Amino acid sequence: MGIRENISRLKASLPKGVALVAVSKFHPSAAIMEAYEAGQRIFGESRVQELKAKQQQLPADVEWHFIGTLQRNKVKDIAPYIHTIHSVDSLKLLQEIEKQAAAHRRVINVLLEIHIAREDTKQGLTPAGCRELLADIRPEDYPHIQFSGLMCMATDTDDTALIRREFQALRRLFDELKSTFFPNNASFKELSMGMSHDWLIAVEEGSTMIRIGTGIFGVREY
Ligand SMILES: *Cc1c(COP(=O)(O)O)cnc(C)c1O
Repeated sequence: MGIRENISRLKASLPKGVALVAVSKFHPSAAIMEAYEAGQRIFGESRVQELKAKQQQLPADVEWHFIGTLQRNKVKDIAPYIHTIHSVDSLKLLQEIEKQAAAHRRVINVLLEIHIAREDTKQGLTPAGCRELLADIRPEDYPHIQFSGLMCMATDTDDTALIRREFQALRRLFDELKSTFFPNNASFKELSMGMSHDWLIAVEEGSTMIRIGTGIFGVREY
């Protein structure tokens, strides 16, 4: 199936209020343009260099999301246009995003990435580390950051019960952090969870943003 069909099929099966992030990493701008022409506006990239090149080639109303490991010294490169950063997992990174967003007089949406999966290699804060981080800061010291919610990747497994438990754990953590740290912040509302193979489960467990690469663009060539 083509990119256009994949997008319409996904959009038709997503409940209202669940956003579709089309993960275009490793796919050429022409493929992104095809998705754009099918009405898709939110695209996710995981490498700064690649994002920079694509951002210059594609229409200005694309909403770019950063979903990969972000080095502090690269924040300045994406600060002029990035809409949401899904992968914030340290105080230092948060401070740098605040600094660069302020320099560009912008507000950048931030999701805190939580390490929920069984794998050692995945990025992210532990739930305890995330509580600590939020207890240590005052959101008003970050006027150019909108704390938008949490992100996670589930374990890469066929064990759907495990995947479901991980998404449930993220949802519970979200509820706890929301009531503890953001009770009056309506913007803290996003749960970015679910990829091509597990988005159905994620949506059942309360995802508000799914990140789909293969399911839209096909298999990536690394
Ligand atoms: C690549 C990637 C995705 C998309 O993965 P697919 O399995 O191709 O849908 C989603 N989230 C993150 C963080 C990724 O790096």
